[in-house]
Amino acid sequence: METKTQSFADIMLQHIPVGVALYEADSLHLLSANASFHRYMDTFLDPRWQGGKAIGHALQEWMPDTELASILTVFQRVAETGSPYRSDEYALYFPAHGTTYWRWTLEAIRDDDDRITQLLLTALDITGDVLARKRAEGSAQSSVREARLPAQPVQKQIDVIEAVAESVRESLEMKSISKTASEAIKAAFHPIFVSIHTADSAQEALRLLHLEYTGSEEVARALLQYVSYRSHDNRLIVARACEERRPIVIENVQEAVRSGQLNQQHAIVIFGAQSYVCIPLWFKDYFEGALSAAFDHTIAADGIEVQTLAACGTHIAGALAHARLHESVHSERARLRLILDRLPEAILITEAMDGSISYANEAAGYILGIPYKLLTGTQLHRYARNYAVTGLNERPGLPWYFAIIRSLSGEVINGQETIIIRPDGSKIFALSSSAPLVNEQNVITGAVTVFQDITAQKSLEQQKNEFLSIASHELRTPITSIQGFAEILQFKAAQGEPLDGASMRAINMITEQSQHLTQMIRDMLDLARVEQTQLQLTLAPHNILDTLSRVIESYTMRMYEHKLQWTLEGSADGKPLLCIYDEERIIQVLNNLLNNAIKYSPAGSKIEIGLRPAHQSSGRPHEVEIWVRDQGIGIAANELPKIFNRFYRASNLDSSFSGFGIGLFLVKEIITRHSGRVRAESSEGSGSTFFITLPLA
Ligand code: ADP
Repeated sequence: METKTQSFADIMLQHIPVGVALYEADSLHLLSANASFHRYMDTFLDPRWQGGKAIGHALQEWMPDTELASILTVFQRVAETGSPYRSDEYALYFPAHGTTYWRWTLEAIRDDDDRITQLLLTALDITGDVLARKRAEGSAQSSVREARLPAQPVQKQIDVIEAVAESVRESLEMKSISKTASEAIKAAFHPIFVSIHTADSAQEALRLLHLEYTGSEEVARALLQYVSYRSHDNRLIVARACEERRPIVIENVQEAVRSGQLNQQHAIVIFGAQSYVCIPLWFKDYFEGALSAAFDHTIAADGIEVQTLAACGTHIAGALAHARLHESVHSERARLRLILDRLPEAILITEAMDGSISYANEAAGYILGIPYKLLTGTQLHRYARNYAVTGLNERPGLPWYFAIIRSLSGEVINGQETIIIRPDGSKIFALSSSAPLVNEQNVITGAVTVFQDITAQKSLEQQKNEFLSIASHELRTPITSIQGFAEILQFKAAQGEPLDGASMRAINMITEQSQHLTQMIRDMLDLARVEQTQLQLTLAPHNILDTLSRVIESYTMRMYEHKLQWTLEGSADGKPLLCIYDEERIIQVLNNLLNNAIKYSPAGSKIEIGLRPAHQSSGRPHEVEIWVRDQGIGIAANELPKIFNRFYRASNLDSSFSGFGIGLFLVKEIITRHSGRVRAESSEGSGSTFFITLPLA
């Protein structure tokens, strides 16, 4: 009896016009299925799975990829939770069949221990019913249209347009505009998808800004992410929408495919849409992008969906244009700011309203001695301390904020010399240029000011001025004494007096002062040459010991008040030490050092001139070091690094020490041009040693 019932059940199962299939819950292997199920499946399946070959294989193996993802989610959920799944109108699209509609269910089957062991699927083909209903709806809609739109759809249309217009007005951000607009359209018309693309005119392509889609969004995104609309790509609807500047409506997708108007691979065919509309988003003469929507029912070219979307498109296009301009202005400003930030000129922007600094770049922070981030937001009057500013030549100088204040009252200041006293007390000379910032109503809203640090130029200029005044004094002194002694000799000659001891002293003085004068004039000329890089060297190999003996010889003859001592260190005894140099210039260097030693040390003290060859690790000497040591006034440690600078004179000198601070500068210049080095050691009050090093040939 039982077997009979069993076989009746089998017969019923095989003939029922509902597909029935049983799956293993864990692995999703197809265990068994009835004839209807196989008949349905064979229309979709790859031939190698047709005719029941899928039995014993997992769903993942044989289900076509396009559908697998969404179906798999349902299976896994039912297998895990045990709660049954019932689809409403499940649209399946396969190129060979177009879209078919299904009502299907999936139930969990439990064993005696209440464990989910199997899944039972039923599937019913409802394509015929759905299409018939859609046709009926379509004709009902067109008959409605013929009798003018009834109040309800018109209201709906107005509501959507209002909602879109309002939401897009509130945003300046392209993404959020497209999101709110798409959501409003979705809520009103329940399309399969709504998408908004933005045009990338350089690439002739559309980029997806937003997508509202009910199914597997990843697949949809992949299809819609980037759409090229180059004109040769004629299968694209957006390309046409862009060119023709009017909505493109596909009232019936299936028909469009059949007539070849639409490619099988087009996203809207793949999505199983029945109709489609693409609204090009033009704002004035700029193609902003496209708004598209696909529906699961047919639509009419002048239907409510198209009319509403077209009206929404106008608002969206305007909002997108606005947002685009805003973004580009924004990025333009950001770029400009980046340039200002990096500019080496110091820039400040001051607001007229409250005198606050609204912008300062890094260079401004540096020149004012205040971190630029602290500068912004502070008020100018904070810096307007009433410091007594002395500019050049003790003339009063203008503080830096004067230029800004004058510009805030409308004046344009061009390269005015101003002075900045930083919080740490250091003084900066700056050229300030400042101009008022004026708005459209011609009201001064602020001032933009540029500072250029000219401290270095200024201090050099200052030193030069000092040098000139010292030089004229220094030159006059020997001339006065030469003139004086010459007049004495003249007088004696006129009296017919013979040359006596006093006359001899006068002649010696004249010679000495003339030499001093010649030396000074020579130094000044050399300085000019060095500055104009015209100092020429006549290089030749010389024995440095010979050159030194010549210098020492000339000094022993005329050194009355100091004791000169010659020291030779190292193994170089008498053997020639060849160096390549301009002998006249090296003699000038040694003269300078010896003259300084004489000048800056007391009568009767010792002056040492020495030489030692310096050895490399290999043992052969590679350079010679020459030194001049005195027991004079010395140089303070903090001034020692500056004494080779041009015009620098130490602070321990009184007016009895003549000179203009260019001798050591020339020493350094000449020696470095011979690839040598100079340095000094000193302690104030007990003497100095100057070293020069020259490479050996
Ligand atoms: P000046 O014409 O002033 O001597 P220099 O360039 O030769 O110019 O020297 C620069 C400064 O270095 C001098 O003004 C002096 O202050 C210091 N100086 C140079 N040589 C000596 C020395 N032997 N002893 C002490 N100070 C010296």
